[in-house]
Amino acid sequence: MNAPAHEHIDPAAKKPSRTFGIDLGTTYSCISYVDDSGRPTIVKNAIGEDTTPSVVFFETEDNVIVGRIAKNSQKTNPELVASLVKRDMGEKTTLSFHGTEHSPESISALILREIAAAATAELGEPVRDVVITVPAYFGVSQREATRHAGEIAGLNVVDVVPEPVAAALHYDAAGGGDRTILVYDLGGGTFDTTVIRLVGNDISVVCTDGDHHLGGADWDDRISSWLLERFLAENPGSAAGEHEDFLQSLATSAEEMKKALSRRTGQKQPMRFASEVATAELTRERFEQLTADLLERTFGITARTIETAKVKGVDHFDDVLLVGGSARLPAVAAGLRSRFGFEPRLHDPDLAVAKGAALFALIQTVKTAFPEGDDAAPATVAKIADQLGIDPEEVRRLSEKKVVTVAPRAFGIKALRQGSLTDSYVDHLIKANDILPATPPVQRYVTAHPDQTSILIEVWEQAGAVASADLEHNNLIGEGRIANLPPLSKGSPIDVTFSMAQNGTLRVHAVETTTGEDLDIELLIGGLNRDEVAQARDAVARYSVGG
Ligand code: ADP
Ligand code: MG
Repeated sequence: MNAPAHEHIDPAAKKPSRTFGIDLGTTYSCISYVDDSGRPTIVKNAIGEDTTPSVVFFETEDNVIVGRIAKNSQKTNPELVASLVKRDMGEKTTLSFHGTEHSPESISALILREIAAAATAELGEPVRDVVITVPAYFGVSQREATRHAGEIAGLNVVDVVPEPVAAALHYDAAGGGDRTILVYDLGGGTFDTTVIRLVGNDISVVCTDGDHHLGGADWDDRISSWLLERFLAENPGSAAGEHEDFLQSLATSAEEMKKALSRRTGQKQPMRFASEVATAELTRERFEQLTADLLERTFGITARTIETAKVKGVDHFDDVLLVGGSARLPAVAAGLRSRFGFEPRLHDPDLAVAKGAALFALIQTVKTAFPEGDDAAPATVAKIADQLGIDPEEVRRLSEKKVVTVAPRAFGIKALRQGSLTDSYVDHLIKANDILPATPPVQRYVTAHPDQTSILIEVWEQAGAVASADLEHNNLIGEGRIANLPPLSKGSPIDVTFSMAQNGTLRVHAVETTTGEDLDIELLIGGLNRDEVAQARDAVARYSVGG
């Protein structure tokens, strides 16, 4: 930590300012800050709603609309609307609107910019410093892409925090002693389960698992397909199914029906295409049959999480928290009850993550204001509390919190199997759920060929849900070459050091031991590089925002 001692703080430069927590969701996003009384508060958006659809409508070449109107525009202008981009975070992929290429980062940046602007307008103070939440299983490139999205939006991303940790912080703020909890988060496009232990002031992630292609949108798709089937049954030979706008209207109706079915046991839906009409009635029971396999997938992952937790010494849960809008599906709680014997409770499902992010943001602000090793001296606490305008007791309490996170997946080096020159595998140095910061012991490898003058080091990240040494179950995330070496004898040692910081940033260092030649491996962040971030920032800044 490089914060100067507080006596030397230049009051103008170092005055802690408010840091906001942003839940950048796959389908809905939300922003929060900690108010004077120390409680997290949601800032409503321009149309008075707590959450904003994470949808961008590229209305014209230079005007974008974010949120509700954009979501509704999917019906009429599907080719100009971007949604569910979080699913592609960290991937080198682009979408084109009005001839301009957009990355998942730049589209996310437009969402962040709109949310920050709306909060600025609402509060009359600029939103600059933010903490953004990420799914716990986001790997290195996805976390980095999220940071980049914030930078492109012109924000200062103080940190990223795993969503379940944020949810647990919010839960913890409600009080209640030492506990182990299971967080089941079923959102719009992602699912994850995380075991968290709250002991004294420590909040630690025991293990986490998830699927970032599983969420409420999949439930919507099942209803959409069902509606189309019903429509075609009533209107044989209809061309409705080939019309994007009709399909979009079904998608919108599907989400509304789904939400209605969380309260009611049946829901009617009229449909119209040109002169063709049909009305379909979906019962909750039928809906649950249509989506049973999706729910089952969440339970499979939950079971796997419980198993992993067991290996780590956790054999019972004091609470099962349901977060994410889709956790409102009655089948979720019912299934967790019957399958696992849990007594789950809904915990502020739409807002818990943003509120927890705001608490985490405050903890980070308070921590950086304290020089390392300095205890929360009452005078310092009072000063920070005064500067932030927050109750000193809350600042003291939060300054003592410690969040311990774990590695989201396994990371390692590509190596050749002993005695083979072709059979390579990934040797994982950091394993999923290792406590962060992780600094595994130096690992020694040896050269495979005689007279090697260069050594290629490749860093790979676990791709599948379960760690495997097979290359096909891992993704290359970085590489580097130690070159210009004198011809080495076969079996020359190379020492590789991995270290992963608490926020999930990975550093890899390799050294050829006879010459001392070494290498810091620059991780190829799947998405954008520095220049591209700067370019995207300019490009995004040029858009005016309507809506
Ligand atoms: P994310 O964080 O992935 O953006 P959220 O936690 O905001 O997602 O949840 C959004 C999802 O929750 C959407 O798929 C939405 O349709 C669904 N949802 C919201 N309310 C309900 C409800 N009452 N019943 C079922 N699903 C709901
Ligand atoms: Mg979410």
